[in-house]
Amino acid sequence: MKLEEMISEIELAAKDCECGNAHNKITIETMTVGDDAFEKCAAFIVMKKYKRVLMIADVRTYAAAGEKLHSIFVEKEIEHAICLIEPNVNGDVVADEVSIVQAMLELDADVDAIIAVGSGTIHDIARFCGAKTSKPFISIPTAASVDGFTSLGAPIIVRGMKKTFQTVSPIALFADINVLINAPKEMTAAGFGDMLAKFTSLADWNFGHLHAGEPFCRLSASITEEALRDCVEKIEQIATGEEEGIGSLITALIQSGLAMLIFGQSHPASGGEHHLSHYWEMEFLQKNQPQVLHGAKVGVSSIILAKLYKQWFGSESNIPEGLKERAAKVAAIVENIPDADRLKSWLEKVSGPTTPLELGISSELVERSLKEAYLLRDRSTMLKYFNVEMR
Ligand SMILES: [Zn+2]
Ligand SMILES: [Zn+2]
Repeated sequence: MKLEEMISEIELAAKDCECGNAHNKITIETMTVGDDAFEKCAAFIVMKKYKRVLMIADVRTYAAAGEKLHSIFVEKEIEHAICLIEPNVNGDVVADEVSIVQAMLELDADVDAIIAVGSGTIHDIARFCGAKTSKPFISIPTAASVDGFTSLGAPIIVRGMKKTFQTVSPIALFADINVLINAPKEMTAAGFGDMLAKFTSLADWNFGHLHAGEPFCRLSASITEEALRDCVEKIEQIATGEEEGIGSLITALIQSGLAMLIFGQSHPASGGEHHLSHYWEMEFLQKNQPQVLHGAKVGVSSIILAKLYKQWFGSESNIPEGLKERAAKVAAIVENIPDADRLKSWLEKVSGPTTPLELGISSELVERSLKEAYLLRDRSTMLKYFNVEMR
């Protein structure tokens, strides 16, 4: 799907979708990926007649993009304040209550809009603060690292526990393609990992719908499938960091975010592999270990689940008694997941990590998460089914 037509195409298709779920309206007014994105951002702010805006970034994302945006704001006489979120004791910038208060302290009554300059974490902070103060926020992604830019969910750590709040989407997105191209390679690999994770998340969604009646939307699923397919097709160009590849990756991530947005929940993009990743993340938080990129974790956890799902449900002969009547359908769902080796080779191609060990995750933690991670979310995945019905 082309970025320019994405919103109107999805909205049009949503009108005809017969899934029975109420679809959210997309309230994003405009999206740009290109080398004039920041000029367009400034023009948008002027057009909206915002008197004063607050830029939320961190030291790194400010250097990568904030500085350039700041000079354009100065040139166009856009009044703005800058809030650089400070890292925690581990050196990580995290979306927790401390960062949120830091941002809130700068969010004076005369601020008309928030400009989120950064990756997922900065967006989560901006999104949450914007929703709580009813101020619109504008998304400026600084890396093609995650699919959450255009979705509603803001995962926030409160007292050491991660909780996802359904908040608001940005009202506009402006991504400078050169900023994305120059982002650290591991962030691009993480974005690709977050896309590959859709193989297992879509399988889990289909499975949960089939056997437990999880709400399902054919349209959201196919939008996500298409984004995934487009992204895998461009793997060579993504691996070499070419404009065409990075452009396709950010477009796929945006598209996946919109699929979640219209459905209103994260089902299309988050299954058992995300639950494993959340479990690992909480363990790291509790042990005060520096965090690992979200997309790096879900890339690795997708490989693990691709292998296990095929073992557990892959052939009609080993399908458990409770699923016997739906054996063929379950087998077809699992068949759609590429082999673990294939996922691994794709991730290797973009220089992404492929094993828990590379992420500093012990085999003990992996084993424990395979038994307990499904408890983190009330969602019917194959990971949950295995633990509840087959262990
Ligand atoms: Zn994700
Ligand atoms: Zn639908």
